[in-house]
Amino acid sequence: MNEDAWFTDDARGVYLVADGMGGHAAGEVAARMAIERVGEHLCRLRDERASVEPLKTGIVDAVERANLEILQRAAREPDKRGMGTTLTALVLVPEGTYLIGQVGDSRAYRLRSQQLDQLTKDHTVVQERVDLGLLTPEQARIHPLSHILTRALGIEPDVEVDLLTGALEPGDVFLLASDGLSGMLSDEEIREIVMRGGRGSLGAAAQALVEAAKREGGLDNVTVVLVKLLDED
Ligand code: CA
Repeated sequence: MNEDAWFTDDARGVYLVADGMGGHAAGEVAARMAIERVGEHLCRLRDERASVEPLKTGIVDAVERANLEILQRAAREPDKRGMGTTLTALVLVPEGTYLIGQVGDSRAYRLRSQQLDQLTKDHTVVQERVDLGLLTPEQARIHPLSHILTRALGIEPDVEVDLLTGALEPGDVFLLASDGLSGMLSDEEIREIVMRGGRGSLGAAAQALVEAAKREGGLDNVTVVLVKLLDED
């Protein structure tokens, strides 16, 4: 059962990954609702040539709306009770800025000058312990409670969205992934595979990431979105 969902629109520079939770395929429903609602809204704003500030507001508005819709549907349909989803949204704005909206533990990474940085922060119990210095990130990754979220869509009427922005550079590679990837592979393993792919086909790199996660146990759905900005030359 695949409870991940994703969306990509290269023309508008909008990329999303969501990882649903809840039994009876309800997680997939929640993930799809989030992707559709937020994807549509961001594409419309990009068509209106919205700049970074309205896009920030737009991500928050769309996530809040999707959150309420998921809650309302779960209240109406008993087999959807308890469904929820993560959401990681990336928008590449032509002025040379990236914007990320984050809820949950799907992740956005950036590979630049051979260095892989995790741009988002997981909203999980183990991440809170990392922040307190009680666990290392590597211990957190393999911790039995690593999947316990502190934030998601579909849990409460209020949802807090982390917003991150930064400058784009030619050759930047962005990676969005569900925890089916980051839970199975270390950042170093991810970096090596993306680096190898960065010189060739991105599609092959995405496939290699999924295959590597499956080899490590593949205990979960694995979703990977890779985006590369063209080099200047
Ligand atoms: Ca997952």
